[in-house]
Amino acid sequence: MNILLLGSGGREHALAWKLAQSRLLSGPEDRFYAAPGNPGIAGHAECVALDARDHAAVVAFCDERRIGLVVIGPEAPLVDGLADTLRGEGISVFGPSKAAARLEGSKGFTKDLCERAGIPTAGYVRTRSLAEAMAALDRFNPPYVLKADGLAAGKGVVIAQSREEAVEALADMFDGKFGTAGAEVVIEEFMEGEEASFFALTDGATIMPFGSAQDHKRVGDGDTGPNTGGMGAYSPATVLTPMLRGEVLEKIIVPTVKTLADEGMPYSGVLFAGLMLTDEGPKLIEYNCRFGDPECQVLMMRLEDDLGELMLACADSKLASLPPVRLGKQAALTVVMAANGYPGTPDAGGEIRLGDAEAGGAKVFHAGTKREGEALVASGGRVLGVTALGDSVTEAQARAYAAVDAIDAFGLFCRRDIGYREVGRETG
Ligand code: ATP
Repeated sequence: MNILLLGSGGREHALAWKLAQSRLLSGPEDRFYAAPGNPGIAGHAECVALDARDHAAVVAFCDERRIGLVVIGPEAPLVDGLADTLRGEGISVFGPSKAAARLEGSKGFTKDLCERAGIPTAGYVRTRSLAEAMAALDRFNPPYVLKADGLAAGKGVVIAQSREEAVEALADMFDGKFGTAGAEVVIEEFMEGEEASFFALTDGATIMPFGSAQDHKRVGDGDTGPNTGGMGAYSPATVLTPMLRGEVLEKIIVPTVKTLADEGMPYSGVLFAGLMLTDEGPKLIEYNCRFGDPECQVLMMRLEDDLGELMLACADSKLASLPPVRLGKQAALTVVMAANGYPGTPDAGGEIRLGDAEAGGAKVFHAGTKREGEALVASGGRVLGVTALGDSVTEAQARAYAAVDAIDAFGLFCRRDIGYREVGRETG
């Protein structure tokens, strides 16, 4: 079969690496394309210039190359309805419809769905003007959680410690700081607890748990400094005990999938739940309609099954025909190496020599890299995701940092404490 993967980040390199091992691509005629891809993905797939925003061009490419499965990596094309366009042309696609992708594309949509389905989450009010939002603040205590409704690349959430700070942030949001994403603002009750991520594959009817992970959003050691797209991750998150995972499945994932199906917008693809483990049990913070980055890297390292078959089964509503997803017993940990300046304006152009970083079994996933002649150079904020397995998170962490230290990378930095919570639990 011919497969097209859309995206260019570390998440897509991890997907490309795993898809390249699929039985679906094992025949001599099978072709694997990525658009636009990156130098790491180019090791597994033929990278082509194709703009996912140009639906007609994607459809034409699929026709011409006889693509049997399209895998959509990032959220923007999903929220934009690319999966609907492709399905309309009879092309199998991994990723939800525009209607179902509103789980990520509209925080207000998700909160309303939680209310209809009785899913545990923070109390909330949807507001459409500064006056409405200011009045709504009276119903909450500080810290105030303020969220631009739409996609804002992980930057649309403000936790304000005082009413003054909240009013200032709300004024910015309604003033267009996040563009149309901030035309509506959701104000939420603040939840206390540890955060964890839970993933499940679904074709709208069958649900298959796909493991847990925890990430590190802040740029600095000890979870300090500004938020980023993610500076590292590890899997499994043992804080999600088997009992809690059962509760998440029963009280959050199952009612979500069932409600969407009952309301005529069945969800197909991966459902990524961001959870707060509160004293009252797990509560939903948010949904994402695609794999996390860098959570995807750790999950792919642990996946023992054929990713292509799983994705095709989701796309074709045949998930029930496959056995449950198997993740290896080993833990995996990713350390993100970012360009100096990130998450502000990152320095570009620093040369990277990977050396023998992968000699001990680690994988170096490319995110923001490009080729300049023979040289590999940094071309984005997050540049590499160095990932290793181990019998414990402590061992995976040591291996990942050994690989980081083998990389000669001018102008890159990383956190030195990825996985510290889990290492603390392991070492007592
Ligand atoms: P992401 O970068 O994960 O896509 P996002 O912009 O979609 O982020 P959320 O995940 O909803 O937004 O929130 C970002 C972060 O803000 C959460 O990871 C969590 O740390 C914090 N947060 C969000 N909602 C709450 C809440 N109700 N109570 C406490 N903290 C919260």
